[in-house]
Amino acid sequence: MCVSCDSCLKGNFRGKRYKCLICYDYDLCSVCYEAGSTTTRHTTEHPMQCILTRSDYDLYYGGEAMTGDQPQSFTCPFCGRLGFTEATLHDHVTSEHSDLSYEVVCPICAAIPIGEPNLVTDDFAGHLAMEHRNPSRDLMSFLISFHTLQQNITGLV
Ligand SMILES: [Zn+2]
Ligand SMILES: [Zn+2]
Ligand SMILES: [Zn+2]
Ligand SMILES: [Zn+2]
Repeated sequence: MCVSCDSCLKGNFRGKRYKCLICYDYDLCSVCYEAGSTTTRHTTEHPMQCILTRSDYDLYYGGEAMTGDQPQSFTCPFCGRLGFTEATLHDHVTSEHSDLSYEVVCPICAAIPIGEPNLVTDDFAGHLAMEHRNPSRDLMSFLISFHTLQQNITGLV
């Protein structure tokens, strides 16, 4: 399914896409985003998640393994701050916005190619904890501790 711009109605555009984290299923192309397009419900105050289109994604990753230098960063749907990772967004939301519980669109689900692009939740911190606690990082820390343990054992022998 291709996404079209909700302002100029251009379909399947190249380049960056911006998705509103407050309005359900509201996407803009970068031209309309920069022009500050609004509707009766959408205002420029709404935080928007910048999403790389599929072709950009392939361009960045080129089929190679992901590195630490990931081009995708996440926007806080409550205050619009940019540049979070899955882990730092969770920390931020639990420490800064634990009192907020209105419905927002999950920026992580919206940005990942296999995600549900319009996942709306009124328990965003809970959703982050359930779905985005980065299991690969936990695996890494497990492997590191296991490796250290092995080294310690070898050192003792
Ligand atoms: Zn547009
Ligand atoms: Zn909006
Ligand atoms: Zn925030
Ligand atoms: Zn999500």
